[in-house]
Formats: sequence, C-alpha cells, structure tokens
Amino acid sequence: MRTLVVDHPLVAHKLTTLRDETTDSPTFRRLADELVTLLAYEATREIRTEPVEVTTPVAPATGVRLSRPLPLVVPVLRAGLGMLDGMTRLLPTAEVGFLGMVRDEGTLVATAYATRLPEDLSGREVFVLDPMLATGGTLVATIELMVARGATSVTAICLLAAPEGLAVVDEAFVDDAGCPVTVVTGAVDDRLTDRGYIYPGLGDAGDRLYGVV
Ligand code: URA
Repeated sequence: MRTLVVDHPLVAHKLTTLRDETTDSPTFRRLADELVTLLAYEATREIRTEPVEVTTPVAPATGVRLSRPLPLVVPVLRAGLGMLDGMTRLLPTAEVGFLGMVRDEGTLVATAYATRLPEDLSGREVFVLDPMLATGGTLVATIELMVARGATSVTAICLLAAPEGLAVVDEAFVDDAGCPVTVVTGAVDDRLTDRGYIYPGLGDAGDRLYGVV
C-alpha cells in the first residue's frame, strides 16, 4: 500500500478551519468540497490516459483522454457523500457507485449494507471517498470488495488519517494482491482515542457535514 500525504499550504489552511469546532456545517461542507478537489488532483496523477487526435483551429494535434473503461468514484455513506461533488468536479466523466458500510460493534468487522456498484470492475480504476481513516476496518472491507470485483487499482481519498488506520490498511494490502492500493490524505494525525476518534481530528465528519441524526 502506498500513502501520499498532500503537503500543501492550501490543504493545511483549509484543514485547520475544518478542524475548528466553531466552523458551521455550510462552511464545513464547502471546505470539504474544496479539499477533495485538491487531494483528487494528486490522487489522479497516475490516472490512465490514451492518445487521441484533435484538430485545433491551426493544425492537427495529439493529446490524451481518460482511458476506457472510465474511472469509478465510490463515496462511502454517509460522510463520503460530502466529498462527491468536489471529486466529480475534477473527474466529470467518471461513473459513480455507492457503498454503505456498517460496523458490528461486537466483532468490529465492517460489512456492506448497501451496494450500488458494477459487478465487474475489471479494468476500472476506483477512487474511494471516505473523509476519516480511523481504525481502518471500513476501508479494508471496502477495498477488499473492490478487489474481489476485479478492480485494476484502488485509491482512497481521506481528509484525515490516523497512524493506526494506515497501519491496518498497509498490513491488509502489503503485497497489493495484484491491485495497487493507495491512500491519499491531507494529514496524518497523532493517534486514535479509545473511542476510535482521530486525535486531534475534527470530530464526527458525518455529523459536522449533515448534523447529528
Ligand atoms: N469517523 C469520524 O467521523 N471521525 C473520527 O474521528 C473517526 C471516525
């Protein structure tokens, strides 16, 4: 597994406001949206393209377009939805799947309760959106599902990550199982709290985006 921490002053600036407990939901949503676009720029650095010929007003030119099949973007419900618009702004032709994951608090194993994904992901580059990489359980289960459906690569975009969660994902995909796995994040925080929150983190991302339900 490869980890990319996007070290950029604008990312750090926006993340700081996102962390601030006085930041209201509308501002939080806007900042999450802007951050994803910045992270996605780095996350798509190696996206596959193919040559294409166009004719400019002056002359023929060879350029590139995204390879087919098009990439698949998968927000993990609920908080990942807050990252979708920022991602599709950068990749408007990508297709979008949806995944709802729930964790059994006894076994701590995450399973899918809702999937709206192509059965066959062969040849697809998959971009998973989940703002908080905390224990890593949900992300491991999500990536396993994509690998089982034949994804060519999986890139997870997370606003924040905990070292413990990164280690769990790294251990699960140590040899990449034939499918390269990358985590792109805005920062790696200190640790997890005993309640599984990222410290110092930003609190519950879903609640801050959409309110407490
Ligand atoms: N999920 C969140 O929303 N916040 C955390 O700190 C950890 C997991």
